[in-house]
Amino acid sequence: MSKNITLTMLKPDALEKNHEGAILHQITESGFKIVAMKLTQLTKADAEDFYSVHKDKPFFNDLVEFMTRGPIIAAVLQKDDAVEDFRTLIGATNPEDAAEGTIREKYAVSISENAIHGSDSDENAAREAAFHFSKREMFSLQ
Ligand code: UDP
Ligand code: MG
Repeated sequence: MSKNITLTMLKPDALEKNHEGAILHQITESGFKIVAMKLTQLTKADAEDFYSVHKDKPFFNDLVEFMTRGPIIAAVLQKDDAVEDFRTLIGATNPEDAAEGTIREKYAVSISENAIHGSDSDENAAREAAFHFSKREMFSLQ
């Protein structure tokens, strides 16, 4: 067990439906410490860069359009086993497969508009945190 970080984004669909308060509450109640956070809107270039691993997937253009259509909340979260525990907390990509009580089971409407992002590895968490935040904005990492 080690204290590490993950990067989350509350996606445009979650903010459109005013779910950000409930989702952040579930995150902090589950033992994650917010060590950086901002409300921001991704440009097309930002979304293409953030999701570049998916650039050849059939859903890529729709994903970029969705992720840029309104503001998001980006945050860095710290916890023991942050990446793995956060993926458990958010649930499967497709809300139909997401376990009872997970954030996606409660707030996602489809496999594309699925409320929230969570990093899938420590390496990607570091890359994604640096994508959104400067070192000075990440309180645990100074
Ligand atoms: N996505 C989609 N259709 C798919 C798979 C993924 O629109 O068939 C979107 C969805 O918003 C997802 C994001 O692309 O969260 C990134 O996909 P990934 O497979 O990395 O899922 P995640 O890691 O977010 O669970
Ligand atoms: Mg992913």
